[in-house]
Parts: sequence; C-alpha cells; structure tokens
Amino acid sequence: MDPKKEMYAKRGAQLVKNLQKRHFEAYYCDDRSAALEKALELIPDGVTIGWGGAMSAQQIGLMEALKERNVTLLDRDKAASQQERAGLMKQCLTADVFLTGANALSLDGQMVNIDGNGNRVAAIVYGPDSVIVVAGMNKVCDTLEGAVQRARTLAAPANSQRFEIATPCKQTGSCHDCLSPDCICNQLLITRHCRPAGRIKFILVGEELGL
Ligand code: SF4
Repeated sequence: MDPKKEMYAKRGAQLVKNLQKRHFEAYYCDDRSAALEKALELIPDGVTIGWGGAMSAQQIGLMEALKERNVTLLDRDKAASQQERAGLMKQCLTADVFLTGANALSLDGQMVNIDGNGNRVAAIVYGPDSVIVVAGMNKVCDTLEGAVQRARTLAAPANSQRFEIATPCKQTGSCHDCLSPDCICNQLLITRHCRPAGRIKFILVGEELGL
C-alpha cells in the first residue's frame, strides 16, 4: 500500500474510535468511491438536503449522484436571484439532511469550522436532523490546538482566494487576524460531542480533499 494511504488508514481507525466515544457516527473509507457509497447509504429517499462548505462532498461526486435519487436538493447555486438564494440558505437550516465538510479535525475526535456568513456552523449546531461531514484525512491534526491553527492559518486563507473580498489574506495568502469588513472568519466553531447521539456522521476519506 502507498505509505501515505497506510498512515491515513491507521490514523483513520484511531479517529473513528475517538469520534464514536463522543457519540458521533463515524466511518473510514479508503477512497472517494467508497465514501460516495457510504454517503448514499446514509441518505434515505424522500428527504430534503441542504449543504454549505461541502467541497469534499462535491469532490466525491455526492451532489451529482443525489440528482439521480428521489430527494429534494436545496441548491442555492440554482437560484434565479439573490433573494431566492438567501431563502434557500435559510431553508437549509431546517433541511432533513445537511452536508458539509470540516476545516480541521483533531485526532481525539473534535471538529473545527470557521464561517463567514454563519449558515454552515448554524446548521451543524442545530436544525437538520442529520448532518453528514465528508472530510479527507489531510484535515486531521494531532491536537485541537493544531486543528484551530489549521483552520485559521491554512483553510481560511485558502478559502478567501475563492471570493472577491478585500482581506489581507486574499493579498498575501496568510492570515493577519484581520478585522476587515469582508472578513470570512466571523464564527469559530468547535464541535466536541454529539447530542443526540449519531446526529452528526463523519465519513473520513483516505485521500486529500477540500482546502
Ligand atoms: S486575514 Fe482575516 S479573513 Fe483572512 S484568514 Fe485571517 S481573519 Fe480570516
């Protein structure tokens, strides 16, 4: 086996156990096709599905595959106006299933996410009955401090490159702990435990996904 894959599999096994201790559901998948199969298994027919910050779920082909299923997709990118887009973002907060990613995870089973608008972290905290997190093993840090550091100094400056914003990180590629009106780091969420048990489900993928 590829040495990195082997390392991911070993760390993935530890992380699954640690997430389960915190009452998350957790699965380790060797690659994106196994991850796609697992995600589809976790989503029943007839549900409404929203998402936010879900680049890894896109990368495993989940949104494409869901178009073939008997589900309702709350796709804000299909909105005809800003008003419709804002409405869809609010509907995602009460979707049956919310798909998202992680900016970072710690090996002891905690998730770190940073949000600009807050819609993603809001849905992780409360609302959808089921939250499915797809995360590549490149997101896993040894400690919670390391995970916060990853989210703030790597994921956020990388994310800022996707937007037309006037933040220092957009210019330099590094976080300057800014207070810019355009700042995308407005909420910092640590998800350390799951109640009700199993509401948040992790699909960890032995590949590099997302930012
Ligand atoms: S410079 Fe501002 S927007 Fe950019 S990563 Fe740092 S806090 Fe976030």
